[in-house]
Amino acid sequence: MDIHVLTIFPDMFPGVIDASIVGLARTRGVVGVHLHDLRDHTNDRHRSIDDRPFGGGPGMVFKPEPVFRAVEAIERSISSDRAVRRVLLTPQGERFTQPAAERLAKADALILICGHYEGFDERIRTGLKPDELSIGDYVLSGGEVPALVVIDAVTRLLPGALGDERSAPEDSFSRGGLDFPHYTRPVEFRGMRVPDVLRTGDHDRIEAWREMKARERTRARRPDLLDSARPERDRATATPETSQTTNGRRKP
Ligand code: SAM
Repeated sequence: MDIHVLTIFPDMFPGVIDASIVGLARTRGVVGVHLHDLRDHTNDRHRSIDDRPFGGGPGMVFKPEPVFRAVEAIERSISSDRAVRRVLLTPQGERFTQPAAERLAKADALILICGHYEGFDERIRTGLKPDELSIGDYVLSGGEVPALVVIDAVTRLLPGALGDERSAPEDSFSRGGLDFPHYTRPVEFRGMRVPDVLRTGDHDRIEAWREMKARERTRARRPDLLDSARPERDRATATPETSQTTNGRRKP
């Protein structure tokens, strides 16, 4: 997968995208992260990407021209048989969840558009028709941190990104509910013992214990997730939705 990020602060990304799972996945060629400075797509002397809002009020608004120009240039650089998703990071978007990350992970390329200041001229939304994603009900200064959240959540789902392919499907939300408790050595720490069942070597009993603990924990902390908890067999057969982008490309 190739992830293109459109931002006015490309310097915010190195460090995070160089480290840990995303860094390794980039090194292994599982994912490419391409940073595009929105100012490179302006054509005035001041490289201006924003302007004052019509109707008055505080803050500056992202102008449509540089964003359209940048998105179109990025798409021209991507082979036409690749499934591309345009994603606008905005607090007004659909909540970014594990199923949304799974949906994005099916694409061949993503274009993540980061806003700043008051946000985007509305025609960016209506004209480019991107997916609109919010990482939660709070307002951040810009779309860069949300874009990093999306990059991390999507990358760990890509084949070859994690050391053990069994990890991601076992995580919280992938199973519908929350993950079960984990333990490692030592067997006893400050009077707290590892549950005996985990040291029996009996995999059926261990699996049953983990399922039970995951359900208990989900019921106690996130009862809202219980309705969505899918049995193992349904998860295995679930198929992603398919749809079409406005620019005629395949959209996973
Ligand atoms: N005036 C906008 C509103 O109330 O919807 C908020 C603009 S915010 C200060 C600037 C930019 O940060 C947004 O355009 C968006 O790209 C990003 N942003 C802020 N909070 C976000 C969130 N919860 N999820 C995704 N992006 C967010």
